[in-house]
Amino acid sequence: MVVSIDTNSGFCFGVTRAINAAESELEKGALYCLGDIVHNGQEVARLELKGLATIDYDDLRTLPAHSRVLLRAHGEPPSTYWIAQQRGIEIIDATCPVVKKLQDRIRACYELHRNDEGRAPQIVIYGKPGHAEVIGLQGQTNNTAIVIESVDQLHLLDFSRPIYLFSQTTKSVEGFHSLVEAIQSQISNLKSPIALEAHDTICRSVANRVKELQEFAKANDIVFFVGGTKSSNAKVLYKNCVEANPNTIFISSPDEVDKINLSTFTFPLSTLKIGICGATSTPLWLMEQVRDKLSRNP
Ligand code: SF4
Repeated sequence: MVVSIDTNSGFCFGVTRAINAAESELEKGALYCLGDIVHNGQEVARLELKGLATIDYDDLRTLPAHSRVLLRAHGEPPSTYWIAQQRGIEIIDATCPVVKKLQDRIRACYELHRNDEGRAPQIVIYGKPGHAEVIGLQGQTNNTAIVIESVDQLHLLDFSRPIYLFSQTTKSVEGFHSLVEAIQSQISNLKSPIALEAHDTICRSVANRVKELQEFAKANDIVFFVGGTKSSNAKVLYKNCVEANPNTIFISSPDEVDKINLSTFTFPLSTLKIGICGATSTPLWLMEQVRDKLSRNP
């Protein structure tokens, strides 16, 4: 039996940068993080052992002046910076530069068109409602942006006004293009067509992984996909993995390996190839623990 880890899986650039920032700031003293630093419980627990304290918005409003708060890669709406300023809190901004650029683009679009019709422009975000990154993006539009997750929600759009479409960075490219096609098709049936500006703002650090991940999944008999249950990116990449290899199993921790009976698969154990891969929020050390567990208890 051969067990291997996908060399392209693991933290993306933005998450690595935020975790490095947390580790180096923790050396200087107490540090809070607004929300889980990454959608992976084990990595959060590792950093909490080093002293990182995860807080929510209510906590932020009651922190003493000069407290140091790290903003994670997902980014934050302008209101968070405003609260921090009012309370004299020091912000360590680890917003991923890709997310920051997207926030700036949405804000610029909002500012450019805010007076076109005497009301806020119709900015649409293809994303998950309530996701931290999406909250940060909505904040750039004074919370006027409409968030939709699928073509089934087109009824939420106003087809008498221009549409400015953007995407959460971790959504699927395929899903975005289906949405654009569905909007265009609806527009083509209008008596007075409206303008659609579609901006594909999906992070290629995620999108480019799909092909490599699927090749890795196909090259193995059974695949263990390691990801956090709260991670959007893990959900997308797991789905891609299953498409390439239906024998893909989602797990969040090495302990879950014990619950899987490999003999239910029809592959001969002696030549079995098991692959381990994960999301952009999955630490390499966690995938290594899964590998070690499988190697010890085939
Ligand atoms: S997935 Fe892309 S945009 Fe999101 S944190 Fe990672 S590098 Fe940044």
